Formats: sequence, structure tokens, C-alpha cells
Amino acid sequence: MHEWALAESIIRAAEEYASRNGLQRISLLRVYLGELQAIDHEILGFALDNLRREAGVAIDRIEIVEEEAVFRCNRCGYEWRLSDTDLPEEAREAIHFVPEAVHAYMACPRCGSRDYVVVSGRGVRIEVDLEG
Ligand SMILES: [Zn+2]
Repeated sequence: MHEWALAESIIRAAEEYASRNGLQRISLLRVYLGELQAIDHEILGFALDNLRREAGVAIDRIEIVEEEAVFRCNRCGYEWRLSDTDLPEEAREAIHFVPEAVHAYMACPRCGSRDYVVVSGRGVRIEVDLEG
């Protein structure tokens, strides 16, 4: 259900983008999915492919790209990835449901501070290609 709602808003965003820019056709719609979002890529891909046919703009191709989660410590400036850590499975799961929960499970690997920001890997963004 979640994936279908997301797919709908992605298609709507693409339609809006197209109408704002006077486009009839989008050759490639790239969807960046934050690693911290709990989204099933296969279901989302299926939903997008279905909704694409009814979209108000022709979309030739849709590509889903996972965006890796990157964190940066506010105290020491260290940057690390989720894959650099050895979080237990249940912690990963909790983070996927509520990305903000990450602070409860993880501290800066260098200085131990919990004062850090999520640089990427959160939310969803789209990019549009017009040629190709
Ligand atoms: Zn630090």
C-alpha cells in the first residue's frame, strides 16, 4: 500500500514537472530511494510501471536507484555509512520504519557522540532526463 501511494506521488511530481516545463515526454525518470526508507523496490517498480501508462506525460523509462545512508558527526566531523556499522538486524529494521530512531541505536564511530546529521539516504527524490 505504502509503495503504491509513493508511486502515485512520484508520477504526480513527474506530471507537474512536465507541465511546468512544457514537456510532452520524459525519456528517463530516475527515482532515488533513501536507504533509510522502508520501501520495497520491487513493489514500487511494479506500481510505477503500471501508473506510468496512465500518466499525463509520456514516460519512456523509470529507474530506481538506492541512495546510501551517510552520516556526519557534528562534534568531530567524521563521516560514515550505514554499511560501515555493525548494527543488529532489529536496529536496522527500526531505523527503516522511523529514520529518526537512528540516534537511539548508533553513535559516531570515532568520538561516540550522538550529535550527528543524516547527510543522505533519507526520503525520496526524483530526477528527470529528457534525452536518451
Ligand atoms: Zn564524532
